[in-house]
Amino acid sequence: MNLKNYACGEWVTSTEKTQTLYNAINGDEVAVASSAGLDFALMCNYARTVGGPALRKMTFFERGLMLKKLALYLNERKEDFYKVSWATGATRADSWVDIEGGFGNLFTYASLRRQFGNETFCLEGDVAKLSKNNTFIGHHICVPKEGVAIHINAFNFPVWGMLEKIAVNLFAGVPAIVKPATITSFLTEAVFKEIIASGLVPEGALQLICGSANGILDHVINQDIVTFTGSASTGMMLKKHPRLLEESVPFNMEADSLNCCVLGLDAAPGTPYFDIFIKEIHREIVTKAGQKCTAVRRVMVPENFVEDVQLALSKRLQSTTIGDPQLDGVRMGALAGKAQLKEVTEKIAKLAVSQQIIYDGRDAMQLTGGDKNKGAFIAPVIFLNANPFTNIDCHNIEAFGPISTIMPYKTIDDAIQLARMGKGSLVSSIITSDAKIARAYTIGAACMHGRILILNNDCAKESTGHGSPMPHLVHGGPGRAGGGEEMGGKRGVFHYLQRTAIQGSPTMLTQVTNTYMQGQNIF
Ligand code: NAP
Repeated sequence: MNLKNYACGEWVTSTEKTQTLYNAINGDEVAVASSAGLDFALMCNYARTVGGPALRKMTFFERGLMLKKLALYLNERKEDFYKVSWATGATRADSWVDIEGGFGNLFTYASLRRQFGNETFCLEGDVAKLSKNNTFIGHHICVPKEGVAIHINAFNFPVWGMLEKIAVNLFAGVPAIVKPATITSFLTEAVFKEIIASGLVPEGALQLICGSANGILDHVINQDIVTFTGSASTGMMLKKHPRLLEESVPFNMEADSLNCCVLGLDAAPGTPYFDIFIKEIHREIVTKAGQKCTAVRRVMVPENFVEDVQLALSKRLQSTTIGDPQLDGVRMGALAGKAQLKEVTEKIAKLAVSQQIIYDGRDAMQLTGGDKNKGAFIAPVIFLNANPFTNIDCHNIEAFGPISTIMPYKTIDDAIQLARMGKGSLVSSIITSDAKIARAYTIGAACMHGRILILNNDCAKESTGHGSPMPHLVHGGPGRAGGGEEMGGKRGVFHYLQRTAIQGSPTMLTQVTNTYMQGQNIF
């Protein structure tokens, strides 16, 4: 099957066989992807001249309603997407995060329509009083940028990765070109086809590139926005593109992240907090076979509890069934492909130079279904790093699979310092019911993290977990994590709007914005 690109209002199949995509479970050929022959300059221009004007005619309210209808439309077809998702190596639970989690983003942004109202623009902040007699005031107006959002995505969330981004740019009134990572683009294509078939999104508002997008940044102009999710090396290479600098194009980057989970000093073995901790880190290790940007890579444990954690975690991992996600009882599927398996295996070897493997499920790996040789299966590997302040590979090397390192700490200050040694992460969690510990950790670690979860009995049942970025909250992180910020409810919308200060009399600004300003003399 040749994947289709959607460019300038047409479905385009390239006849060139550039990249073959394989089923992660059994190695069968799934699809062929190629972007050969696509004219990226034309696509960018089509978005700016066809999609942009159509979206800008709509109000925030109308754009929100469009997202809601789209979410409902896609939700009706979700079983088809689950079927396609199997070939990415994902279990039903993994795919739920990707597929229905993605729909959740559409719903969340749809619900913001009441906050933004029924205008094509919005006001931000409060009126600034600029004169003694209040004849001259200031405010801020935000209008959609008149460019295109280019979304370059990672392979691990082919649906969520697309929807978490387009929910925001469509709501803001900006068109997008979606470029999924090629290896899992067959799933993105399946969902994208339904988005276009729905007829709910104006022509030109969305285009799709399955295959390489190398060269697309040569065509960006100052009203465009580029978002990137993927490895730090690719991100850095793209971020330096001269065209982005010349045209002052924002580049939002989400890259590698060595997220950590801290067991509080109060959460001793035998307490419910200890069990919550083991459950949480186990889930983070096996979900999506560890291929989550938010997965727990570093596990910080009070030094007296290290042995208990090793035992409890190993026991849980041993009983985790790995194999074909279509079969009953399978809890962990495969990595996305053989290339990922090779990369993760190499990273394990690098980490093993400076720290000890205390759990290695690979040798005795028994699969329930799936093909051990042709599929991309790997069992979890857990390290112990007894000297995490001096052996620092665990703070720098990200093995993008079911791989984590346990490290001991003495005081909460030590835990904070270790967390910060990740040089900037998307998320950290701490399991504690001691407010003093929670406060010290949160305030001490916050500057190096995009999100911090404080977990205990009070919220564990309803908690969305360490690994789930929520559309209402910001997703991103400083430093190594790329320095970007996505979603965040209303906050994310402003990335796609031009904020302009406006000044004048209250009467004039009331008429321009259709919003009451104190001191106006119309009403
Ligand atoms: P990747 O190899 O860096 O690729 C990311 C994206 O960049 C892909 O869509 C890729 O397309 C595209 N790309 C590569 N070169 C390009 C170019 N010259 N012009 C335009 N696009 C280009 O990363 P990946 O292997 O997909 O993802 C794994 C990594 O992503 C992990 O290291 C993980 O840490 C990181 N990640 C981070 C987050 C986060 O939110 N922070 C989320 C998920 C993953 P092709 O596939 O066609 O090469």
